[in-house]
Amino acid sequence: MQYDSDSQAERIALAETDPMSRAFAEARVAAARGEVPVGAVIVRAGSVIAAAGNRTLEAHDPTAHAELLAIRAAAAALGSERLTDCDLYVTLEPCAMCAAAISFARIRRLYWAASDPKGGGVEHGPRFFAQPTCHHAPELYGGIREQEAATLLQEFFRSRR
Ligand SMILES: [Zn+2]
Repeated sequence: MQYDSDSQAERIALAETDPMSRAFAEARVAAARGEVPVGAVIVRAGSVIAAAGNRTLEAHDPTAHAELLAIRAAAAALGSERLTDCDLYVTLEPCAMCAAAISFARIRRLYWAASDPKGGGVEHGPRFFAQPTCHHAPELYGGIREQEAATLLQEFFRSRR
């Protein structure tokens, strides 16, 4: 994306409509709720159809990761278990559980910000999409605004010590 010749107002408008910016906004809202700041957005044909942040504490649900909540909301909105034409943006490398859900949902493209060497399941650990038992792998685009996402997580955990 080219920002150089845009006015500041246009830059702000672009930032607000950019799906990863929306995912970051969801992550910040999650942090304000005391949740680990991870946000996810699902886009179809240029429109955001679902957005969510982590809610594991609030929902008393260890599976209430941002990606799963966004997938459930998108599937409900489309009335389909398959999100074939959809792209998912998330601020942290998905865990193995979410990677499996992304595969089952037939997500087309996966974009994530920070990598997660301790809990990730895409580039780390189980590397879910690279296994022969994985029947659908999205196109993978990692490391988008990685430092910003890493800083958000670091600040959250530092504030809780
Ligand atoms: Zn997850």
